[in-house]
Amino acid sequence: MKPLDQILKADIKNIKMIVLDVDGVLVPRGTKIKQAGNTTTLETKVIADKQIEQIKALNERGFLINISSGRGLYMLQEMFRGILPFVSLTYENGSATWYQGKVYQHVNSFKYLKDVFPKLKKAVSDNKDVKGFEPKEFIITIHCEKQVPEIEEIVKKEKGLVTIWNGEAYDIQIAKDQTKAVGLRHVMEIFKLKKENVMAIGDNYNDAELLAESGLSISADKERVQGKFYVPLESELLPADLLMQKILELSS
Ligand SMILES: [Mg+2]
Repeated sequence: MKPLDQILKADIKNIKMIVLDVDGVLVPRGTKIKQAGNTTTLETKVIADKQIEQIKALNERGFLINISSGRGLYMLQEMFRGILPFVSLTYENGSATWYQGKVYQHVNSFKYLKDVFPKLKKAVSDNKDVKGFEPKEFIITIHCEKQVPEIEEIVKKEKGLVTIWNGEAYDIQIAKDQTKAVGLRHVMEIFKLKKENVMAIGDNYNDAELLAESGLSISADKERVQGKFYVPLESELLPADLLMQKILELSS
């Protein structure tokens, strides 16, 4: 992996689409969630005006922008409200993509998750380390103070499912067939792109497949995911800020 400041104009000459992860890339890490009985409180993070302007500028230079996140669609629509006409939103770790009001479903996880959901609900209801279930359609996301072995044990018994712990929550989804890479492959079909046309940036374990599937990969946390280039974690600027600034420089 090379530091991002070594990226050259030649590296991005075939790039037509930029795929941006959200948490830890476009906004700082950490989700505030509280669940008390049937009431779930979830904070919506705001994308800073500066990043919205950078995305607009990239779009004006001719780049397609795809947001690829583990979050649900309702949340991404809220976060990207001002630029929805030209961004595509791939949500719940590659499960589906929203583009200009049309939803493309990539994965059907219903029969895989329907039995495990009530088991998890029941098992963790009194667990003080469990903060709450984030509302999702195609994956199960459980926010926890720390890793909860009970959750891992339950999922391990279910055929074909995996848990991905990202430091603040578990995503529970279908092994291999429900990843950000699956979402990206469908997005490439929608926009008729090849691997070499795609640049992607991500910071966490759920981004590993996405980065491997893209022609030019950027890691926003080199301890957690591999990329051709990496953005230093200790910078005061967000990883997406540094990357977009760099691409705007190189493409001017
Ligand atoms: Mg992330």
